[in-house]
Amino acid sequence: MNHRPATKLAPDQPYLAPTPCAADGLVRYRLYVNGAFVDPAGGEFFDSEDPVEGIAWARIPRGNVADADRAVDAAYRAFTSGAWPALSASRRGALLRKLGDLIAENAEWLARIEMKDNGKLYAELIMQMRYMSSYYYYYGGLADKMEGAVIPSDKPGVFNYTKYEPVGVVVCIMPWNSPLPLTSLKLAPALAAGNTVVLKPSEFTSASLLEFVKLVEAAGFPPGVVNVVTGYGAEIGDALVSHPRVDRIAFTGGPEAGRMINEKAARHMKRVTMELGGKSPNIVFADANIDEAVKGVVAGIFAASGQSCVAGSRLLVQRSIHDAFVAKLKAFIADVRFGHPSDPATQIAPISTRPQLDKIKRYVEIAKGEGATLAAGGKTASVPEWPNGLFYEPTIFTGVDNRMRIAQEEVFGPVLSVIAFDDDDDAVRIANDIQFGLAAGVWTQSLSRALTMADRIRAGTIWVNNYRMTSTTSPFGGFKMSGTGREGGIAGMREYLELKSVWLSTDVEFPNPFVRR
Ligand code: NAD
Repeated sequence: MNHRPATKLAPDQPYLAPTPCAADGLVRYRLYVNGAFVDPAGGEFFDSEDPVEGIAWARIPRGNVADADRAVDAAYRAFTSGAWPALSASRRGALLRKLGDLIAENAEWLARIEMKDNGKLYAELIMQMRYMSSYYYYYGGLADKMEGAVIPSDKPGVFNYTKYEPVGVVVCIMPWNSPLPLTSLKLAPALAAGNTVVLKPSEFTSASLLEFVKLVEAAGFPPGVVNVVTGYGAEIGDALVSHPRVDRIAFTGGPEAGRMINEKAARHMKRVTMELGGKSPNIVFADANIDEAVKGVVAGIFAASGQSCVAGSRLLVQRSIHDAFVAKLKAFIADVRFGHPSDPATQIAPISTRPQLDKIKRYVEIAKGEGATLAAGGKTASVPEWPNGLFYEPTIFTGVDNRMRIAQEEVFGPVLSVIAFDDDDDAVRIANDIQFGLAAGVWTQSLSRALTMADRIRAGTIWVNNYRMTSTTSPFGGFKMSGTGREGGIAGMREYLELKSVWLSTDVEFPNPFVRR
């Protein structure tokens, strides 16, 4: 990979001192453990690439087993002693809300770092960063509202009540496609519930979290409560997952890593949340508002260049409107504008990582080999201003059979598989005939059809006449191979709590000790 001095990225905001450049001109990051920025134990670093310029811009610490130990020990100490366990839930909530304020004040800076590292459109990132405050406000508000219950016991002479307690040390492992929002969906409820946390971002996009954690520090969280370690999944990621002092793992990423982590976690009965991949159907009925459906399908698969877990990558379209719908779709994407993600006129930003670009190319060849018809795109896009940028054209395959690999496997790129269906039963059969169950879109003007489809499709989220809507207040997660557990809403908070049942005898006399009551 070529090296070049990093584009100057200086924060305008009060809380963020810029991370300095090393002698090679690249920004040099450090791990954040026990309230201090430290070099990795092994002294090794790797490059982070700017996907627009196609060159390295930052050096990321390559954490190892010793770093995992340091971070988990710090989190364990902070969970069991010191200021954090002594804080009331209300005070924890106040700290989270303070962090939300700092995020809002520094949203532009966070968006710029995220854009530099994963190449997403600034227009999308700035909205995401501003919205991210709401995670901390919402869970900060919930911190002191998770009430236990007094159980109307069937036993005489006892007072039985329940209470929620934190799980302990939580490890959060993130992918590269939405680094900070996906971190926040875990971090905010984990902290609100009273846990301590070790965060491990993707090796492709670690910089934004190492900037973000400066805000955590500025908000006043005690040392060890939040730690950030970086490095490869098979190295430090595996060491964190296997660590005996880790009580819960919150993972977002691909099904393969998810399965491995789940198996390891099971050995120690660690609690897990798995937010995995998808191959979501976007189903368009002949009675839909067609122009709106075209926009929804485009947003579903070509926003963020399809690098989204909920990408509507299977378009199920009713046979009677198939040809007309595909023609409209092709016309809609015919003149898309590629460019720098910071340019408001850019519609399509680069693919975030080189391995991901290679994967997209591979799947396009697989689809052709399976006999699908290439109806649009199918190659890298050349953008004269950014000759080394990782751009790929929005791609449409028609004539796809649901049993093909291009219909069954997640590409995680701007590749749409179009499958024709005949009637409602046929649509449901095709939609559900897959190992995933993350999300689905339904486009119809019939209320009864909308509700019936929402009932019959086996997925964690159903969007009717919209696509991609999510909120802090609503649970999100997958059926089947798309994962276990939920993020968002009150359900997302419960994932980070243990429920304890307390029995208190009000009888003075102990009954026969040899007979269980
Ligand atoms: P990935 O599985 O390759 O990596 C995700 C994270 O896991 C990285 O931090 C990586 O270092 C770590 N990791 C990998 N192997 C590990 C191991 N053996 N032990 C511990 N950690 C390990 O995924 P990715 O390519 O970064 O992200 C893309 C995937 O994420 C897609 O499949 C996408 O669908 C999924 N995703 C899901 C959601 C959701 O909410 N359901 C959201 C975004 C992305």
